[in-house]
Amino acid sequence: MQSRIYLSAPHMSGNENKYINEAIRSNWIAPLGPNVDLFEKELSEKIGVKAAVAVSSGTAAIHLALLLLNVNKGDKVFCSTLTFVASANPILYQGAEPVFIDSEPDTWNMSPQALKRAFVDAEKEGELPKAVIVVNLYGQSAKMDDILSICDSYGVPIIEDAAESLGAMYKGKPSGTFGKFGVYSFNGNKIITTSGGGMLVSNDVEALNYARFLATQSRDPAPYYQHSQIGYNYRMSNLLAGVGRAQLEVLEERVAAKRKIHSIYYKELGNLPGISFMPELKGSISNRWLTTISIEEKEFGQTVNELLEKLAIENIEARPVWKPLHLQPLFKFSRFYSHDDRDIASELFENGLCIPSGTGMLEKEQYRVIECIKKLVEISV
Ligand SMILES: *Cc1c(COP(=O)(O)O)cnc(C)c1O
Repeated sequence: MQSRIYLSAPHMSGNENKYINEAIRSNWIAPLGPNVDLFEKELSEKIGVKAAVAVSSGTAAIHLALLLLNVNKGDKVFCSTLTFVASANPILYQGAEPVFIDSEPDTWNMSPQALKRAFVDAEKEGELPKAVIVVNLYGQSAKMDDILSICDSYGVPIIEDAAESLGAMYKGKPSGTFGKFGVYSFNGNKIITTSGGGMLVSNDVEALNYARFLATQSRDPAPYYQHSQIGYNYRMSNLLAGVGRAQLEVLEERVAAKRKIHSIYYKELGNLPGISFMPELKGSISNRWLTTISIEEKEFGQTVNELLEKLAIENIEARPVWKPLHLQPLFKFSRFYSHDDRDIASELFENGLCIPSGTGMLEKEQYRVIECIKKLVEISV
């Protein structure tokens, strides 16, 4: 059996020990401490925002953003449909109601025209959403100019779910800095990792101070433990923030490596019949977190599931594109706005596949993946 090739395994920089050891030596083994403060400072400086709050997960960061925007029971929140369930679960934590917005073909992200229709209806019904959660899928920014101008015209704030797009750019500005709040994830498979963790960013320093308060059990300033409202235990540990600091040092390297992996796949597979690649919007730089292809079954000669099975036999991990949230049993009662008469997200789900993109992957391992896919095409033509 050949060694396993993972979709996107964690890739240490080598400096993690330095920060962890320092935390252990100084006995800062707590959900606060110098690594947490410095991780927040270093990340906010890198992306050019005024403040950041390190938390236990990207999901927690989204939840805090909804709390800051006062999303409560019965409120509506618009959300990209083609995403991981973590983008929308916090809407349910608040008892609010998600309305899902389709993708568009250029970015695979939120369709501005579907968003516009959702707003027109919401206005007619007299109930605008409290927030719009825009996801930047697989490291590609959504069309933020269009989306911002629509949301601004209705006065509705954006939460940018940039869990997958740290290090990506849109029109010269870092992905995750376009909304009222931005969210990053440092889960094990993300472009940089703390094993588990997240970050909430914003230029609203006061709001983020309040997020910090909520994330530490909403403890009132008093000499004893006093609490006047619901709180959460969402802060990042000082040990894990040490891992994050070491990872952040190599972010640019990781983006370059991800983009190189993508370009090798593109060069080797781009001309095969029936394979196309997730596009990169002009004026943006994707971090290419996961190289994602789309398969035209008739030309390629196999379905996505067949291809997945063949890769699995060769001990290669790949996975389908996210199943759209409007197709999930969990959200079967939620509303959905399609791009036009086509449901783009469902098409991408049916035909899309993420292939191994770990920055620790050896070039010869990548060629194993490439040869496996090429072989299948030869068989089927
Ligand atoms: C990973 C991810 C999240 C959640 O992050 P966690 O840190 O795992 O909670 C949210 N949204 C998207 C799009 C993600 O890929």
